[in-house]
Amino acid sequence: QLIYLDGDFVKKEDAKVSVYDHGFLYGDGVFEGIRSYNGNIFRLEEHLVRLYESAKSILLEIPYTIEEMTEVVKETIKVNSLQSAYIRLIVSRGVGNLGIDPRSCKQASVIVIAEPLALFPAELYETGIEIVSASSRRNRSDVLSPKTKTLNYLNNILVKIEANLAGVSEALMMNGEGYVAEGSSDNIFIIKDNKLITPPGYIGALEGITRNAILEVAANKGYEAIEGVFTRHDVYVADEVFLTGTAVEVIAVVKVDGRVIGDGTPGKVTNDILEGFRAIVEQDGVK
Ligand code: PMP
Repeated sequence: QLIYLDGDFVKKEDAKVSVYDHGFLYGDGVFEGIRSYNGNIFRLEEHLVRLYESAKSILLEIPYTIEEMTEVVKETIKVNSLQSAYIRLIVSRGVGNLGIDPRSCKQASVIVIAEPLALFPAELYETGIEIVSASSRRNRSDVLSPKTKTLNYLNNILVKIEANLAGVSEALMMNGEGYVAEGSSDNIFIIKDNKLITPPGYIGALEGITRNAILEVAANKGYEAIEGVFTRHDVYVADEVFLTGTAVEVIAVVKVDGRVIGDGTPGKVTNDILEGFRAIVEQDGVK
């Protein structure tokens, strides 16, 4: 496996960064998780726009143009002879001194990792998953979160730990007011009377690229699909619930905090949406 590291392709075991890299010292950097389906990189442009916007927000200059970065991503997949892959793109502030001041970092570091896809067990898509709500709150919707996808993911990690401690697959984050925001690394949709609702970005949700694709898929299939604010109660009494994300695609949630959703199996709207999503993933890709 070859990793792109600041202009070179290096073996996985040699792909190392300095302990003085501010990405490591302070979480000072941005990232993206992208997926390629059968040689088609799903919505690459949207992912790169989000990456560059996150970087702009934290005053981090990415040393490549979007066009150059597109080529780097494609090349990384090519040199690894991958067709279907998970791609991790990281831009860190780079090497500096121990002080927090980013002016000591002369050059941002760019890393692209492409791996064969580690799919979730297929059975989870058939049975659906159980989730709990986490006590950790989503960071406030200021400059940093949630629109900026930075290397500061501790908040999300704590939520994942809560899921692990509860013995379930994922946990839900509320925002400071108690409204449902998202999962540790995925967005949530609830369905009531065939209407799909997902929290708006300002509540504290990342505007996921899968989420946006699902809003389009749902509309094309004739469902009403909107952004809306809701509470845990609305999740408990929804007809169906599912999560979306680059890695997870669309996965049904059948139990939340012990409350069974619908009849406890993935619902028909969720299955219809998943089918619609799988139908577009290859067409919507960049070769
Ligand atoms: N929310 C968070 C906090 C995430 O990290 C992710 C994964 N990037 C998502 C939602 C899902 O976004 P996407 O569909 O763009 O992968």
